[in-house]
Amino acid sequence: MSAKAPLFNRLALIGVGLIGSSIARAARVQNAAGSIVVTARSPATRQRAAELGIADQVVETNAAAVEGADLVIMCIPVGACGAVAREIAPHLKSGAIVSDVGSVKGSVVRDVAPHLPKGVHFVPAHPVAGTEYSGPDAGFAELFVNRWCILTPPEGVDPKATEKLAQFWRLLGANVDTMAPDHHDLVLAITSHLPHLIAYTIVGTAEELQSVTRSEVLKFSAGGFRDFTRIAASDPTMWRDIFLANKDAVLEMLGRFNEDVSALTKAIRKGDGDALFDHFTRTRAIRKGIVDIGQDSPAPDFGRPHSGLAPLPKPYAADGDLE
Ligand code: NAP
Repeated sequence: MSAKAPLFNRLALIGVGLIGSSIARAARVQNAAGSIVVTARSPATRQRAAELGIADQVVETNAAAVEGADLVIMCIPVGACGAVAREIAPHLKSGAIVSDVGSVKGSVVRDVAPHLPKGVHFVPAHPVAGTEYSGPDAGFAELFVNRWCILTPPEGVDPKATEKLAQFWRLLGANVDTMAPDHHDLVLAITSHLPHLIAYTIVGTAEELQSVTRSEVLKFSAGGFRDFTRIAASDPTMWRDIFLANKDAVLEMLGRFNEDVSALTKAIRKGDGDALFDHFTRTRAIRKGIVDIGQDSPAPDFGRPHSGLAPLPKPYAADGDLE
């Protein structure tokens, strides 16, 4: 293979929402694939993907998308991965890498692996990057820059396949880590899933308050509530699937969280200022740690404005292929 050849000959993306369309855009900028084919469930999304011109081909079916592809990535809600894997299995090219981007990994491994034929490499992945927006218009090429992508290769998968997928994600700007699927789910339960549950709860609670009007909630939202509303605007289908798929880890973290809320409740009731001060001092240090390692900016607003993103790495040239 020449030094200028793309990493993959043909990349197939099943689902072209925020994540799928961001992968398509970044892969094109980085010349990560010779050609990019995408599909989506609805004609409207397929048409929009075609209008946006983010892929070389937009096809109608999942089966057509994966024909001849050497990398297939399912960019769909986690609850849909099993059925799609069953559907595409007979059409996969031998030697292809099949991956996903789901926010839960244990259930995806359980749902997908049994359907895939021998000779296909299954390497699940989770790019820990996103926004509260959905659909093909929401994606952008820099989404993964300086974010982590966690690979959870099942036992026995060819390490060359895992490394090649890692190369792909690094090319898109991500840092790559590898862990066991269940460990991933525990880590993400506390860093992502529980915070979303809290945001969904607190925004719902505010919505239902009788003594504070809706307009007052909106008007005075700057004091912390606004950040929760951004998170609570995330896609309902995606988050329904995440909580159903990661039930055990979320319940475990929720139990711990409830204990800590009870402790803080008691401190407030007893007027125990020292306990509150100690707790808030510890949490402030965690925030500083996140900023120090470059996973957020010290700017007061939550999230990353696009203009503040680091540029993509320099377009890439591959030097090897996976057989
Ligand atoms: P999205 O913008 O809502 O796009 C979802 C895509 O999946 C759409 O193309 C949709 O097609 C398709 N789809 C939905 N249900 C389907 C089904 N039952 N069968 C086949 N295709 C289906 O979602 P996203 O934010 O890109 O999320 C996709 C995946 O990435 C999820 O597994 C999520 O857990 C993971 N993820 C999301 C984020 C985030 O912040 N959003 C971050 C990391 C990982 P139609 O438009 O035609 O319905």
